Amino acid sequence: MNRLLKYLLIFILSVFLTNNYSQGIDFVALRKAMVKNQIEKRGIRDKNVLKAMLKVERHKFVPEELKNYAYEDRPLPIGEDQTISQPYIVALMTELLKLDPNDRVLEIGTGSGYQAAILAELVKEVYTIEIIESLAKRAEKLLHDLGYKNIYVKIGDGYLGWPEKAPFDAIIVTCAPKEIPPLLIEQLKEGGKMVVPVGDFFQNLKLVIKKDTKIIVKDIVPVIFVPMIKKDERN
Ligand code: SAH
Repeated sequence: MNRLLKYLLIFILSVFLTNNYSQGIDFVALRKAMVKNQIEKRGIRDKNVLKAMLKVERHKFVPEELKNYAYEDRPLPIGEDQTISQPYIVALMTELLKLDPNDRVLEIGTGSGYQAAILAELVKEVYTIEIIESLAKRAEKLLHDLGYKNIYVKIGDGYLGWPEKAPFDAIIVTCAPKEIPPLLIEQLKEGGKMVVPVGDFFQNLKLVIKKDTKIIVKDIVPVIFVPMIKKDERN
């Protein structure tokens, strides 16, 4: 009897401690450390981008069992063989777009919805397209539950863009096409900017600027993104 009581006490105590431990993680402190050590240290200076990265609760965008890794310096799996990008890359791509509060932005590759949430903190409207239905639906629900009213999610093929809502001040592609998709260049406003990782296995993050009807393309940094799927490639 005594022994049983002892086991029962240990059991109750361990449940209490485990719960307390996972609830007790200081995500605010982890987020501050992420911004300071991974993002500011690598040269991101845009105050608004840093503010958005400090505000958006990245741990809500990763699977429950990976919550404790949400603020680490790496991408994480989000299901369907897809990933949420490394925090620094999210910050870098966002900063490169030099966004204005009145901008309307198109994102290709909604994934978890995290990048869309960061954008929504900075601009007027975010349009985001995801080809995998289950991811699009999950992200749409999460973003709605988090109170975002300026994000529009569409299930579809990013190569086609969103012509009904074009032209956009900025476009961000978060999966890697082999070439810059021509329809996306078309849907960019005069003076607009697009960031896009281009390549096969080895990819380069490119900044595309549409200026005086010319297209200027700058190589920024080598990156690794999941491929941008062609609709007929998915079975
Ligand atoms: N921006 C996301 C990460 C995206 S991972 C985030 O913040 O979590 C890349 C996403 O692009 C995947 O979800 C993948 O399904 C999607 N994708 C791949 N090819 C696509 C296409 N042709 N059109 C739209 N989305 C595509």
